[in-house]
Amino acid sequence: MPIATTNPATGQVLKTYDPMSDEQVDAAIERAHLAFRQLHDTTYAQRAQWLNAAADLLDAERDATARLMTTEMGKTYAAAKAEVTKCATACRFYAANAEKMLADEPADAGAVKATRAFVRYQPIGPVLAVMPWNFPLWQVMRFAAPALMAGNTGLLKHASNVPQTALYLEDVFRRAGFPEGAFGTLLVGSDAVERILADPRVRAATLTGSEAAGRSIAQIAGRELKKTVLELGGSDPFVVMPSADLDKAAEVATTARCQNNGQSCIAAKRFIVHTDVFDAFAEKFAARMSALRVGDPMDENTDVGPLASERGRDEIHDQVSDAVDNGATVLCGGEKPDGDGWFYPPTVVTDLKPEMRMWSEEVFGPVAGLYRANSYSEAIEIANGTSFGLGSNAWTTDPAEQERFATDLDAGNVFINGMTTSYPELPFGGVKNSGYGRELSAVGMREFCNTKTVWIG
Ligand code: NDP
Repeated sequence: MPIATTNPATGQVLKTYDPMSDEQVDAAIERAHLAFRQLHDTTYAQRAQWLNAAADLLDAERDATARLMTTEMGKTYAAAKAEVTKCATACRFYAANAEKMLADEPADAGAVKATRAFVRYQPIGPVLAVMPWNFPLWQVMRFAAPALMAGNTGLLKHASNVPQTALYLEDVFRRAGFPEGAFGTLLVGSDAVERILADPRVRAATLTGSEAAGRSIAQIAGRELKKTVLELGGSDPFVVMPSADLDKAAEVATTARCQNNGQSCIAAKRFIVHTDVFDAFAEKFAARMSALRVGDPMDENTDVGPLASERGRDEIHDQVSDAVDNGATVLCGGEKPDGDGWFYPPTVVTDLKPEMRMWSEEVFGPVAGLYRANSYSEAIEIANGTSFGLGSNAWTTDPAEQERFATDLDAGNVFINGMTTSYPELPFGGVKNSGYGRELSAVGMREFCNTKTVWIG
């Protein structure tokens, strides 16, 4: 894939970049290696000051940064502004809490026959971050803020379609005061990842992206014996039970499916509705989906902008066409529009069967699959009948049923009567083919720390 900014609303190539040479990459790794030693000698207070300065820059530069993201990958300008603000909040959260989260943890010295025993969390070194284009600032920040506060350094290989956002990220940390090399952007294609990850100075990797990329990075890291955190795709269930507030559920379902133009790993993708309320929910949901305004992402009245790439749009249209060819029913949308830009209408498809692609594949666009369940058990069976296990949603006002969903949904996140969202305060990640390891909260920060046992006799 060429490293270029192409506006998805017009299909126009705006800026192209030559990939960095091996020598340039080696120099960036060396800078990250040296910066790690420097960060080692800094205090939490110093790193917090730099991270708070980064938050201030993000706030001050919100509108311009948001415009850049919208131009590179097509999310609405309003969503892009909210993303910048969320990143500033995460920086401040880690600046305020990292020291507490990584404080020494005393163990019961008597039980282990020591005068003192404790756990100490220490940074491990430069971490390679391979990141996707869908939340081009947030996906990076949720790695970078805790990593830098822990004293690690970061090397970013961002998706090839968001090079300007990638360069902005390096720039923002440099201007905030972090030492040269503490956070570096590598403008390279995915073919350069193996060499970078094999470099002994690079100690670990984190990836957010597709299953295929996850398998590839995990293989290389396995061979090199390096730790990885993988946040891969999802096909999140959104279960609606008879006691649910159907209006609220339909409203949130629409946002949960179409946020970020439908391109989110934690978007609700499969809507599993109890038969008692199926028709009522289907009508409300399809009405809300068809009412969304598709168009110029810079226009404040737009709800859904273009897909990030032509390939991405073709892929979801192929998935919908395959379902229709095999007997599925389209309640709204489903037609690929003519004209410039990679737009796709919010679509609801029902009467799905296991042999259709939509049943088992992730659908990365504003297309919802609607499933009927005759009982709680059947709803759980459909919800868990996927190779993914990232987020999940259940709508019920019955406290006993809420408890059951919390236990029975096979996913890294369960949100009851609300939309799956990532919060700095809560761990985020998946099970099964959605990956492993966690981001965010103290759990996420400790993924790239040496959990050192100290025993003093
Ligand atoms: P990719 O997984 O291809 O891209 C994500 C990142 O991984 C990019 O930086 C990419 O680089 C890099 N990458 C891709 N392949 C490899 C590899 N073999 N080794 C090392 N790095 C690699 O996602 P796409 O953009 O192609 O989207 C395809 C699908 O991935 C989507 O339909 C969706 O299912 C899933 N996805 C999930 C996301 C999530 O948030 N979990 C985010 C984005 C996509 P480069 O851009 O240079 O190819």
